[in-house]
Amino acid sequence: VNATGIPTNAGPRRGSKVVPEDARRNNRRLVLQRLFIEGPLSRADMARATGLTRPTVTDLVASLLAEGLVEEIGRRADQGIGKPATLVGVDPDARHVLAFDLSDDEHITAAEVDLTGKVVSRRIEPWRDHVGEQAFAQVLRLAHELVASATRPVLGVGIGSPGVVHDEGTVLEAARLRWSDMALGARMGESLGLPVHVTNDANAATIGEYTFGTTRGENLLLVRVGQGVGAGLLLGGHLYTGDRSAAGEIGHVVVDADGAACSCGKRGCLETTVTAPLLAQRLDGADPATRVDVLAGAGRSLGGALATVVAMLNVDDIVVSAPTDLQGEPFLRALATAIRERTMAAVGGHVELRYSTLGEDDVLLGAAVLVINRELNIA
Ligand SMILES: [Zn+2]
Repeated sequence: VNATGIPTNAGPRRGSKVVPEDARRNNRRLVLQRLFIEGPLSRADMARATGLTRPTVTDLVASLLAEGLVEEIGRRADQGIGKPATLVGVDPDARHVLAFDLSDDEHITAAEVDLTGKVVSRRIEPWRDHVGEQAFAQVLRLAHELVASATRPVLGVGIGSPGVVHDEGTVLEAARLRWSDMALGARMGESLGLPVHVTNDANAATIGEYTFGTTRGENLLLVRVGQGVGAGLLLGGHLYTGDRSAAGEIGHVVVDADGAACSCGKRGCLETTVTAPLLAQRLDGADPATRVDVLAGAGRSLGGALATVVAMLNVDDIVVSAPTDLQGEPFLRALATAIRERTMAAVGGHVELRYSTLGEDDVLLGAAVLVINRELNIA
């Protein structure tokens, strides 16, 4: 299992001894990956897709059926001669995941999600006490309520938190919630008696988009415009979180040395030009021409900050995650233009920008994916 919970093609670690149990776990992972990615398959399809032998696949499917994770869902209709093959698929309701999006300033969004990423039920609750232990207590209380009302066995809890989050589930720093070294995953896990996985909101959105969105490749840069600005980076199918779990923290990169004072003490940070509250305020009551100007200005500013990153990494696929009412063509166009103007054609000429296909659920669904990948050992 890699620490990010992202499906990877990586085999056993170099130099490690492959014992039969490891091989079996690896084979199980290969079969489950195919079923999650491609949907229902026959045992023969699975053998072809994974390179495993038929008896191995038959044996693995038998144990997955016994675990209740997969189900036989009838026979394929389209075959001419011979007995049609029985299809096996993941049972979406075998387990459910409880997912939390804590990135919004006003509300906690939580949901019960099935194994295919469908939201079964949703709870939106205003933050009562915004910060510190009170904020933690509210999240924990809501989690207990969701566990109690869950309609299926709960696989685990996934949380997309603002701030810098260590892979082990500790929120190292979340300024707005005034959390510092908050052992969110461990404390909630202990109280709930369930596995709890935590990641930063931009990273969650990135995994969500990669798994349930329309991303085709293995590289993805997702920029999240919310209360602040942050980015998630997926390289070669792996989430890249950096040496201090702070990769993608671009909000306080200075884009205008003469710009407005920022809460961090510097001037002209990216977050003084592009955040959801700031844009909402500027767009409030704006006429159409002003709206275009505001969105284009924000796009230019963000593009200026991203150009070096794009040139450095040569990622074509760039996704913007932003509240729906702040989205607009002028924003994406200005962002693309700014990147292209600041990079060579070989890099900027191939950049494709789009909004997240999961809309405002990307953090929620990414938090669910984190749990599914780690707990079902798909990653
Ligand atoms: Zn700043």
